[in-house]
Amino acid sequence: MKHYDIIIIGGGAAGFFTAINAAEMDSHAKILILERGKDVLTKVRISGGGRCNVTHAEFIPQDLVKNYPRGEKELRGPFHSFMTSDTISWFEQHGIELKIEDDGRMFPVSDSSESIINCFLQATEKLKIDTLKNQSVQNIEQVDAYWNISTNKDQFSAEKILLATGSNPKVWKLLEKLGHSIENAVPSLFTFNIKDSRIKDLPGVSTYTEIKIIGQKLESEGPTLITHWGLSGPAILKLSAWGARKLHDVDYKFNIQVNWLPGHTSESILEELKELKIEHSKQQISKYAQFELPKRLWQQLVKAATIAEDTIWADLNKTQLQALSLQLTEAVFKVDGKSTFKEEFVTAGGVNLKEVNFKTFESKLLKNLYFAGEVLNIDAITGGFNFQNAWTGGYLAAQGMSSK
Ligand SMILES: Cc1cc2nc3c(=O)[nH]c(=O)nc-3n(C[C@H](O)[C@H](O)[C@H](O)COP(=O)(O)OP(=O)(O)OC[C@H]3O[C@@H](n4cnc5c(N)ncnc54)[C@H](O)[C@@H]3O)c2cc1C
Repeated sequence: MKHYDIIIIGGGAAGFFTAINAAEMDSHAKILILERGKDVLTKVRISGGGRCNVTHAEFIPQDLVKNYPRGEKELRGPFHSFMTSDTISWFEQHGIELKIEDDGRMFPVSDSSESIINCFLQATEKLKIDTLKNQSVQNIEQVDAYWNISTNKDQFSAEKILLATGSNPKVWKLLEKLGHSIENAVPSLFTFNIKDSRIKDLPGVSTYTEIKIIGQKLESEGPTLITHWGLSGPAILKLSAWGARKLHDVDYKFNIQVNWLPGHTSESILEELKELKIEHSKQQISKYAQFELPKRLWQQLVKAATIAEDTIWADLNKTQLQALSLQLTEAVFKVDGKSTFKEEFVTAGGVNLKEVNFKTFESKLLKNLYFAGEVLNIDAITGGFNFQNAWTGGYLAAQGMSSK
């Protein structure tokens, strides 16, 4: 049996970040990363469309945590110790400069996830961290002061172990056997499938909206993109993340109410429509979009309010005015199913957060067993926040392991 001081199970973002930091904090520690795949860091490679959205330019811990539907409370303390600004400095010290995009997302200046992978691989080599691939961990048990680990090929032991296995159900089962409870996994970050004549011919059209899920206390605001399958964009993804569990429970069949004119109500818009009727009495309604709405969307909403294409403003009756105000501010759409967002599947679920000490990311139930990354019941909306969770957990776990 091969012995190490620290064994990291899982060669992804969280696993590598922990291993490197642990080695930097204790240069004598003998560290091993065990990865079941034939490659390490596979998700980092494909992340952010191959550019790796490393983190997000949000520098206030209280605001940063608001991006985590699961983990909001628990990450507050850890972010005071290691957050986005620390991530930026860390990568800078390791030769990677990050840049901020207009929406706050941060990427390596190279625009290539390979820079991050090379940085991690060079660091592990320099720090003499062993990495073994094709080693799928099958069993973990604590015998006296050691953790014994069995893979499909070998046996290892270590004083301390860290699980950074992402969303692998088999590892969650192993942890259940060891006494941990696991929140069941459901998808987060998905787009809504909607078949509706109002948006059928508008893929690519994007506008700012307010959206409510009818019957649930879930609402969001932000850019919304019409796609071939329905609706996507930040406003939808936020709802999918916050509603991950509730929407799973209704089998992704529910109704949403879209306000295409955020900040306005059907009543306020009705008044504005009445003024337009006077101002543009001779003008064909569908010909000129109002309220800065994309023209094709305006035309579809006019049509949905049962207003014929050649109708002029002067001919609009009260019912039509009301129908149009409702289409503009309270348009109801039936959602039937979900689609993956740019293949960026993130899972809600994992190790119950009550069972983890968030000062060190050590298990409260099992001594010398640590966690980092998606293995925990923590997930975020899109924008670099999921990696930030991996970096923060990895850093604090490394500190926890090194201080003992
Ligand atoms: C397409 C895509 C794009 C994304 N883009 C971004 C982005 O730009 N920004 C962002 O913040 N987030 C992004 N995410 C989310 C982000 O990738 C994850 O949150 C992050 O990778 C989690 O890191 P992790 O180390 O916890 O898990 P993972 O990266 O999943 O790594 C877990 C590792 O453990 C290994 N493993 C599992 N079980 C075992 C076992 N039994 N034995 C040994 N090894 C095992 C796995 O093979 C894997 O290599 C993206 C996700 C996807 C799918």
